[in-house]
Amino acid sequence: MTFSIRWKVTIGTLLVLICGLLIARTLAIRSLEQEEITRSGQILETRTGLVAYGLQPFLTQSGTLASTPQLQTAVRDLGARAFARVTVVALDGLVLADSAVSDNNLSTVENHLARPEIQQAVATGRGTDLRTSHTTGERTLYLAVGIGNANRTKPSGFLRLGLPMTTFDHEVAKLHRNLALAFGIAFLVAVALSVWLARSITKPLSDIAIAARRLANGDHTVRIRTGSRDEVGLLADTLNQMTDQLRGKIDELSEDRAQLLAMLTSMVEGVMVLDCRGRVLQVNPALERMFDVSRMDARGHHCSEVFRHPQLDTLVSTVLTNRVNEEDEILLQPIGRCLHIEASVTACDRENEACAVLVFHDITELRRLENIRKDFVANVSHELRTPLTSIKGYIEALLDGAKDDPGTSTKFLEIILKQSDRLNLILEDLLQLSKIESGQILFKREPLQVQRVIERTLAMIKPLADKKGHRLLSFVARDLPAVLGDEDRLMQVLSNLLDNAVKYTPGNGTITVAAHPVADDLERPTIVTALELSVTDTGLGIPEQDRPRVFERFYRVDKARSREMGGTGLGLAIVKHIVEGLGGRVWVEANAPTGSRFVVRLPVQHINQPA
Ligand code: ADP
Repeated sequence: MTFSIRWKVTIGTLLVLICGLLIARTLAIRSLEQEEITRSGQILETRTGLVAYGLQPFLTQSGTLASTPQLQTAVRDLGARAFARVTVVALDGLVLADSAVSDNNLSTVENHLARPEIQQAVATGRGTDLRTSHTTGERTLYLAVGIGNANRTKPSGFLRLGLPMTTFDHEVAKLHRNLALAFGIAFLVAVALSVWLARSITKPLSDIAIAARRLANGDHTVRIRTGSRDEVGLLADTLNQMTDQLRGKIDELSEDRAQLLAMLTSMVEGVMVLDCRGRVLQVNPALERMFDVSRMDARGHHCSEVFRHPQLDTLVSTVLTNRVNEEDEILLQPIGRCLHIEASVTACDRENEACAVLVFHDITELRRLENIRKDFVANVSHELRTPLTSIKGYIEALLDGAKDDPGTSTKFLEIILKQSDRLNLILEDLLQLSKIESGQILFKREPLQVQRVIERTLAMIKPLADKKGHRLLSFVARDLPAVLGDEDRLMQVLSNLLDNAVKYTPGNGTITVAAHPVADDLERPTIVTALELSVTDTGLGIPEQDRPRVFERFYRVDKARSREMGGTGLGLAIVKHIVEGLGGRVWVEANAPTGSRFVVRLPVQHINQPA
């Protein structure tokens, strides 16, 4: 059974009080009794002397005493005068006279030789004892002395006076009652006081305990108010200070944690923290996305179980075993993502503590751009080398003697001119592309007359189309939205597309230019959001797998054919860059039953609407 402090204090205080009261009572009564015995002893001493004197006449010549009625009468008389019981005992213990016994019963009185006071008187001539009398049944203080003739050394009997302690005992009993009453009152006062005291001590303590429990449950706003200025108040103040500091530290830590979490969450790079055994302690959302794993599944498991990538496992084990920073590149199959991993070790090597941090950079796009750049350099070199080789070859042929033949030299020089034009064309296109990319070409934002752009471009391309016997058609919707844009650039786009359509459509084809408004906002289907321009031909068409790539630089579906037609392989790349520069997009679809359809979609930017 457990007691609260309040009960412990109360019971403890009361026990101490009871013990104190009992001890005080015992000591008081004992000392009172001692005093009474001493005082009664002195009285007895005096009275015994007087009674002994009163008995002198009863001593015979030989100094002995005889049990006579006169002696008994005198003893009773002396006993009454001395307010004491007077007993005369012979040397052999026989009671010769006793003031407390009637004459008739005297012979029946027990031999007194064995009485302690008589025994002491036999030995020393004087004896005292305090006990309850066999004869009277009262507590009595006895004093026994030897009596006899003064000229004889040995006593001839004993005189014993018994002073009943009845009055004293009554006094003591009264004292007991008074003390009990006083103790009872004191006890009640003490109970009330100790309960109050215990409460005044334990109340603040229980307040502190309640506050500590709330603190432990995470309530850091708790304040302890005791109102006392003693040790408990000091403890409460200290706890309040501790709570404040704790709250400050927790706030600081929470803030740090939130910042860290925000950093980890917003990072594009994947982050993984491992302990010294290679178990995952933490992964950030970017890493979850990269490997399609969830943080809950990953945490606590070994890295190799979660990611199942042998190259990553090797990197992790090297880092953890050798305690060195490492980096590596891994390829994620089948999605084909390329990740660069930087693994750094920390100073800690205890279990469940961060031991290594791995940062995953997704370099797929970087690698793709690198490859494009490499391809581009290779393509440019190749594209430039072809006409240059041809020019060089014909010049060498001319120098070798062909110049002397006017017919041949004219033909060769024409080829050289054609190849230099081609070279020039490639360089111009490249220059234009690089200008668009580097932002050197600024797109105007003027109200576009789409109808006029189409008409002018068609007029430009007509001679070429006529040469191949193509039919040129145009369908322009009446309700075209007014948009802002760069007319010259839009004409360049259209002319490139029309040029291609003419080129890649065998003779007598049909080429159609169309323009119409588009409402592609599903929530507001009546609102025009874009303008769509399309160039459709009935030509060769583009195989499906080549369609997304025709907008890459130098990409051609049929290289030989394209070159033969005088294409640089940069036309559609320029189209794509311009359209994107105007904020739109371009794509190619198949035209049924044959041919291609290039679509340019430009967002509607109303005249008074900011860009
Ligand atoms: P090129 O100068 O070779 O025409 P482009 O960038 O204009 O270069 O076109 C890239 C390639 O796309 C062409 O080589 C051709 O194979 C294909 N192409 C473009 N337009 C058409 C079209 N209208 N019909 C069929 N193929 C086309």
